[in-house]
Amino acid sequence: MADKKQNRNPISPKFNSQRKNKPRFSFYWIYVLLAVIFIVIQVFNYSNPVKEVSWPQLEEMLLKQDVSKIVVVNKEKAEIYIKKDRIQRDTAYKDFIKKGIGSFSGSNPQYTYQIGGEEIFNSLLKETRDTLAAQLTRSGKSPLEVQKSKKEFPYPPSSTTRTDIWGNILSYLIPIILLIGVWFLIMRMMSRGGGGGGGSQIFNIGKSKAQLFDKETSVTVTFNDVAGLEEAKVEVMEIVDFLKNPTKYTHLGGKIPKGALLVGPPGTGKTLLAKAVAGEAKVPFLSLSGSDFVEMFVGVGASRVRDLFRQAKEKAPCIIFIDEIDAIGRARGRNAFTGSNDERENTLNQLLTEMDGFATNTGVIILAATNRADILDPALLRAGRFDRQIHVELPDLEERKAIFKVHLKPLKLSETVDVEFLSKQTPGFSGADIANVCNESALIAARKNKNMIEKQDFMDAIDRIVGGLEKRNKIISPHEKKVIAFHEAGHAAVSWLLRYAQPLVKVTIVPRGKALGAAWYLPEERQITTTEQMYDEITAALGGRASEEINFGTISTGALNDLEKVTKQAYAMVVYFGLNKEIGNISFYDSTGQSEYSFQKPFSEKTAEVIDSEISKLVESAYVKAKQLLSDNREKLAQLANLLLDKEVIFHDDLETIFGKRKFDEQVAIESMPKAQPVVSEPAAPQDEKAPEGTQTPEIK
Ligand code: ATP
Repeated sequence: MADKKQNRNPISPKFNSQRKNKPRFSFYWIYVLLAVIFIVIQVFNYSNPVKEVSWPQLEEMLLKQDVSKIVVVNKEKAEIYIKKDRIQRDTAYKDFIKKGIGSFSGSNPQYTYQIGGEEIFNSLLKETRDTLAAQLTRSGKSPLEVQKSKKEFPYPPSSTTRTDIWGNILSYLIPIILLIGVWFLIMRMMSRGGGGGGGSQIFNIGKSKAQLFDKETSVTVTFNDVAGLEEAKVEVMEIVDFLKNPTKYTHLGGKIPKGALLVGPPGTGKTLLAKAVAGEAKVPFLSLSGSDFVEMFVGVGASRVRDLFRQAKEKAPCIIFIDEIDAIGRARGRNAFTGSNDERENTLNQLLTEMDGFATNTGVIILAATNRADILDPALLRAGRFDRQIHVELPDLEERKAIFKVHLKPLKLSETVDVEFLSKQTPGFSGADIANVCNESALIAARKNKNMIEKQDFMDAIDRIVGGLEKRNKIISPHEKKVIAFHEAGHAAVSWLLRYAQPLVKVTIVPRGKALGAAWYLPEERQITTTEQMYDEITAALGGRASEEINFGTISTGALNDLEKVTKQAYAMVVYFGLNKEIGNISFYDSTGQSEYSFQKPFSEKTAEVIDSEISKLVESAYVKAKQLLSDNREKLAQLANLLLDKEVIFHDDLETIFGKRKFDEQVAIESMPKAQPVVSEPAAPQDEKAPEGTQTPEIK
């Protein structure tokens, strides 16, 4: 049964070979036919090039007695026949002879004249005949000769009625050909789309845009290309196994899962994992993106969902992969403002019905990927639809090493490159970031005309990805440079002196991207964060501004980025994590995202006031602490700032020389994560905070 269906599949080779034997109609034939007709008409016209003349030209011919015959056709046009001997003699007709065109057999005319009315033409001819007679008489011709010329004069002209058979046929045929052409065009558009693709045409609008990968379509990505993600790989492999050996699971009475949702931050390899499934699974794989369901027409999304499942059922057992499912899977009923019939909701409803509705979709498993499972509709996530959620997290040290190995494979590396070192330098990087580092380092090395990529190229690539492009040509006044140096030295000094602040890798005052300077830290990889750690991080972030105040007696706009981060972190401590004594063990965090659309705060006015005052108290006390630390170490701070002004980039070792060995280094496990704390030159738009900070290593970019 399944085989029969396979053969009907338009992309199956068997099907193709059957069709190849029969001559198939192509719409281009119509173009060819029209072109042939056009050429024939042109050739036909060319072989019969009758020139049209004006009355003065015709009158001259008549007076010269060159015209042998005039035939008026259909009372519209006069055909003029020139005497044979005149053509050979008179230079005026030489052109005809040279070009070899026109026939002088007497059966074809040489000229035509639009008469514009038979009576007028006749009277003109009569007048000309009389003029000719008078001319001949004046020139001394005998009356006999005059009489003869009058007789030979083509007056009255003969008259005939002719029907243009070809013209008539063409005038009937062309509209019919056009109609048939349009009809074929429509039929072609309507019959297309069964196998997906070509969805932009109006007739295909309701068809699913899913791309099909099956035995014949080679996908080169395999599980070997996906580094790390071992648990996720096992889960997806199991899904493939469900389809291949269903009885293994069902003989105990279990049911095959309907779907699995890959959830994780951007660039962690969700799409790559799905591609590997397509490459490894020996079942058809239909891939599309959530936005492929979206169109400006109402009902199209739902129709595409229906079509997708129809296709999938035909090809069962098979896998459907919907990337970025949040485009259609957002929780319903959130958009209370428009009050309109939401097209997206209709699409989602259809998806819900198809996934676990009345109809059975045996042998169809749906894989989907999203960055934000929290905003998805709960109905979509319930067991029976997406039974499994596979979390794809940012890679840890070992996984980063494995990802580096995958992406370093095609690169020409020098011996200085150490995968261990690189993976230590890149905590918080996603797989996509690592792929980017590898590519960027190759480009940097190529720019320097190197034969191999060296360690420094990787370091430059990491710096570039974290901080942006170096902008050495940015115009900065000496005073500004000094302020930046003290600001960055402030960050470096405070973080060096605090127990839980992230230890430093390097500090630079070379502008990068939007930042005028940056301090790069080595935070530990941790899953939970304590109050003290967050507090110390806030203090270190305020170190820049504190240093400015202590050294210049004034503060600047340069701390915008720090303040934004500090405020968010302090807010998260008080409102989300219950790390504040006054507010207590209460969290106003809403993991469902429902409150995003709400105007009301989940707390009272009084609590709001307490929150505000606690946040500012927290930040203020951290600021005071930062100032205190810097005042106590003012000389060392100045030394550090001057060194920074001198060298532009200083490292961990330089700080150690000035401040002495960091006493906490042994206690706090150091794992490197370069993290820019840039001093921005212009206010940046505040970021939309989706999740509380501090639950994981904070975002780099
Ligand atoms: P998004 O959610 O933004 O769509 P994603 O999780 O789907 O992101 P992918 O498109 O799968 O991310 O990954 C982007 C690129 O990152 C891949 O093409 C690959 O080069 C690299 N990459 C990510 N994770 C891995 C990994 N585990 N192993 C090897 N390469 C990886």
